[in-house]
This record gives sequence, C-alpha cells and structure tokens, in this order.
Amino acid sequence: MELLLNILHFRSVDIPTTLPLKTLAMLGIECDKYACESALAPWILIWCQNIRVSDITEEIDLKYAVLVAHKLKPPNFLTILSNVGSKMTPATLQNWQGDPLLDKHIPISILDTISRKRQETLDSLRELIEGRETALHCTTAVFPMTGVLCPQCTQLHPDGTKNCHSCHNSTTLIKRLCTSEHRVTTYFDILKTHKLWPTVAPFAAC
Ligand SMILES: [Zn+2]
Repeated sequence: MELLLNILHFRSVDIPTTLPLKTLAMLGIECDKYACESALAPWILIWCQNIRVSDITEEIDLKYAVLVAHKLKPPNFLTILSNVGSKMTPATLQNWQGDPLLDKHIPISILDTISRKRQETLDSLRELIEGRETALHCTTAVFPMTGVLCPQCTQLHPDGTKNCHSCHNSTTLIKRLCTSEHRVTTYFDILKTHKLWPTVAPFAAC
C-alpha cells in the first residue's frame, strides 16, 4: 500500500525500479482494487519487462507471475503466461487447485487456457518427435563418414586402418556410411539418451 501511495503522490525517489514477483502480485491486487492501472502504467512497464519466468525455481513464484500478468497486464503478459505454462507440471496444476489466492483473484478460465495451451504444445512436440522417424526413413541418400568399421566386432577405426586390432580380424574393414538406417538409429539413440523415447513416460510426466 505504501508503494502505491508513493506512486500516486509522485514520490519517485522512494520507488524501487525492481520488485520481487510476490510484491508485484500483491501490488496488482491493490491496483485492481483501487482501479489505478493508468497511474502505474510506466512503473508496470519498468518492473515487468525483466521478468524471466525461465529463471523461476520456486513453484509459488509461478503463481505470482500469473497474478502479475492478470492483474497488471504488462505489455509482455502473454509471454509471461506462455512461459509459466512451459514451466508447469501436472503436479503444479494439482497443487494450485483450491488455492485461496488463485480462487479469489484469477479467473479459472486463465488457468484452463494455460493448461490447454500447454497440453497442445506437448502434443505437437510428441507428434513431431514420433513423425521424424518416417522422414528419416524416406531420405535415402548415402554419405561417406570418417572411419572404417570391423565387420566382425563393429569396432570403429580411423581411416586407413588395414586390420582390426581389437579382434585381430584380417578381413577388409569397411568404410563407414551414413545411411537412412544409421540416421534412424542415431536419432533414437539421442532420444533415449535424453529420456525422450519411448515418448509415453516423459510426456506423461511433463
Ligand atoms: Zn574387430
């Protein structure tokens, strides 16, 4: 309230140029209550332009970010809400159910929209990941790669190697090629490394 009065009485020297999300959220509630958005507009621009939802580590600050976007309507409010959606998990949404602060000050339609957009983005990503295999299979071009392979133990050796020193195989080592099969295998190896394949588990947990 003191901050609000300082702004309304033009005591600029007493107004900080940065504010924690919680303070901004509480100010947003007061601002809405007394309908003084216009008087705060320049300050809202300054305070909200540097909100970095991606840096938020505490779940409660996501809630304050939603409140700030809804109550203060900064120019970047859609970016803030979109980024909140990307940081949410199903647990976040469950934890917010029945929250007095949200129930009182944020229309359920906003949370529903964030949740729906978030799910649509996840569905698109999953479709993109799963559909990539088909595209890789359809690209039949073959490219030479560095190294030669032992056909017996599959050990990779530098170009110019004549014999496999791992299994003492004396047959000719074969030039390594980038084929569609190689690309598909590599693609799924990368997905597995990042725990994105099979897609069911990671996307259910997002
Ligand atoms: Zn070998």
